[in-house]
Amino acid sequence: MSDKKYMLGIDIGGTNIRAGLVGEDYNLSDFIIESSTQIMDAEHAADKLLLFVKRYLDDQGKGKNIAGISLGFPSTIDRDRKVVLSTPNIAGLDNVPVVDTIEAQVGIPTYIDTDVDMLLRHDMFKGSIPDEGITAAFYLGTGLGNAIAINGELLIGKNGAAAELGHIPSRDVQGKCGCGNTSCVELFASGKHLREVCDTELGGAFIGNVFKEHSEDPAIRKFIHDLAIPVAAEINILDPDYIIIGGGVVQMPGFPKEQLETAIHEYARKPYPEQNLDFVYSVPGQENGVIGAGIHGFKQAKKRA
Ligand SMILES: [Zn+2]
Repeated sequence: MSDKKYMLGIDIGGTNIRAGLVGEDYNLSDFIIESSTQIMDAEHAADKLLLFVKRYLDDQGKGKNIAGISLGFPSTIDRDRKVVLSTPNIAGLDNVPVVDTIEAQVGIPTYIDTDVDMLLRHDMFKGSIPDEGITAAFYLGTGLGNAIAINGELLIGKNGAAAELGHIPSRDVQGKCGCGNTSCVELFASGKHLREVCDTELGGAFIGNVFKEHSEDPAIRKFIHDLAIPVAAEINILDPDYIIIGGGVVQMPGFPKEQLETAIHEYARKPYPEQNLDFVYSVPGQENGVIGAGIHGFKQAKKRA
């Protein structure tokens, strides 16, 4: 067995599950991507996840020094980062003691966190953002993902539920959020809402081209402007050193970055933090969550040692 240490990084999504080996230099190898339908909607999702880990270790991990396993979930996770509490988009991943189960069955130290925390780890590394200071990350996908790092530590909160920016309340919001509340900003600041805008206000416009073809339309300008509200709210609370912006919606062709940045400046407190906002856009990549999980695993392993 070679001396080189690897972290098995796993990124679990509603559609795909991705995995790879991350070295201590944070380089990725043996990346795989598989449909997560076998894990989704399964009565025994936790058992299937364990089988996936074992199969990966038998195939890609054979003969290698695997120092740990680090998994990112689209879920809420307990404060101790051991139990996946609730996963709205994947059946069977509620109240699952992932860390204890994998460690008992596989005998390798295991770490879990949210998918957006893993993306933050990746984007800080990729963007050469130092640990020192505050980094706030905003990931606009189906919902509004948020992650915060303070001096290299992820902000977890009393119950593990910090940085739920999508669920801050707002007046006059229509609809019901996935969390059960009816006032969440995610009801207007999300890809889900963008789809509604395409259907109802843009005559069924194809969402994939909506920014290329309609970015000056008042409905899109309003969407972008509204998106800036929660982002600026968090900026006004944290006065972050770096602001990471990413997610599938932001990475669509023609996304109007200037419109978003202008609106964030409009809502940010003057003169500061408004005069000194440092935006970093995450670079799209299938493997980002896996690399981030690997980085996170190495950092947690160091803390445990
Ligand atoms: Zn909500």
